[in-house]
Amino acid sequence: MNKPAVILLSGGLDSATVAAIAKRQGYTLHALTVDYGQRHRCELEAARRVGRALGVRRHVVLKVDLSQFGGSALTGDVEVPKDRGPDEMGDDIPVTYVPARNTVLLSLALAYAETIGAADIFIGVNAVDYSGYPDCRPEYIEAFARTANPATKAGVEGRLKFTIHTPLAKLSKARIIRRGIELGVDYGLTVSCYDPGPEGEPCGRCDACRLRRKGFAEAGVEDKN
Ligand SMILES: [Zn+2]
Repeated sequence: MNKPAVILLSGGLDSATVAAIAKRQGYTLHALTVDYGQRHRCELEAARRVGRALGVRRHVVLKVDLSQFGGSALTGDVEVPKDRGPDEMGDDIPVTYVPARNTVLLSLALAYAETIGAADIFIGVNAVDYSGYPDCRPEYIEAFARTANPATKAGVEGRLKFTIHTPLAKLSKARIIRRGIELGVDYGLTVSCYDPGPEGEPCGRCDACRLRRKGFAEAGVEDKN
């Protein structure tokens, strides 16, 4: 029997690639998508499409409404920044940062993983072509991984030794896309935009759209989305 793994699946291109990598490594995929009140609701439908395409064993879509806290352009009524160049993106932590999002997501993934007896959790964080979020950096992921074993019954009893897998951590967007295409990922199923139109059409101007466009251009691949 293949080992189970929990994959945090957002509907974006990074997590779709991560799921394909985990599948190639022989894991049975248990997807977790968190409906945290993101304004880009079409992301949730994209996550379901990606999950189906990758043949996940089970896909949990969990509602944890962080928009009740507000504090982010992705959940609240702050404008999503547009037309920022690569230099600006690297400068500050942008308003699209969702307070402590990856800690919330990883904690839920850990709870799911412990429940199903999975020692492996996959998350598509990336510290190369990213928006400058602190909880995408390797030092943060390492710190979380250190808490996972003492935080859980399975960890303390030594039945599971949890590992947080970040296969995209050191890859540029272009390399992520090329790797995904090798693995047969259909990026047409994914969405990246932070501020899509009513039909889910990407704005083309937010950081996520710009990083995506640059990645496909550098990879020399057409984006079918
Ligand atoms: Zn956009």
